[in-house]
Amino acid sequence: MQYVKHLPTYMVQRYLGWKATTYTENKAWYRRLADEGQRPRAMIISCCDSRVHVTSIFGADQGEFFIHRNIANLVPPFTQDGDHHGTSAAVEYAVSALKVAHVVVLGHSNCGGIKGCHDMCAGLAPELEEKSSFVGRWMNIMRPGYDRISSLPEADRTRALEKEAVLVSLENLMSFPFVQSAVEDGSLTLHGLWNDIGDGSLHQYDTATKSFIAI
Ligand SMILES: [Zn+2]
Repeated sequence: MQYVKHLPTYMVQRYLGWKATTYTENKAWYRRLADEGQRPRAMIISCCDSRVHVTSIFGADQGEFFIHRNIANLVPPFTQDGDHHGTSAAVEYAVSALKVAHVVVLGHSNCGGIKGCHDMCAGLAPELEEKSSFVGRWMNIMRPGYDRISSLPEADRTRALEKEAVLVSLENLMSFPFVQSAVEDGSLTLHGLWNDIGDGSLHQYDTATKSFIAI
């Protein structure tokens, strides 16, 4: 493990600052979180993009949100093929073990994953079509979504696909039997959001109008 190095100084300093202030001032609460285990109210599925900042947007405290991040905030369809399914494992644990009351899929503007997906589906990114591309294979989840927006003017397609990614993920969530039964018995609600990074707006999917409406 010669390749594993110590943290860069800026990270060490930030950690020590947190430990001396936030942690020290709330030590009893952290101890209680450790002793009693986590009981998050909601699971949030967001993109890995560093500009999507779930805990800033919602001002979340430790223990409040069960957060899963992946490229383009996607949930794959329910498949039991014995393979490695990180996102499905996170959904299973949040819904079946932690019994969260809400699952929120949070999409965002200027998403590089969605741009890549658009280019791949439009035939402009042959490198993403390769079997060796993890990003390309992951983005295959969005092919049905691309088909639904491909007739739009080119300038509108990427943004439409970002929102479509939220809807495809919500549809795929419902393909998990334990999600479907929790939704049907009223113990779980699903939510679709899209965040505009530049203007800070947050839009939520409205079933009645079948569109994303600013909060
Ligand atoms: Zn993204």
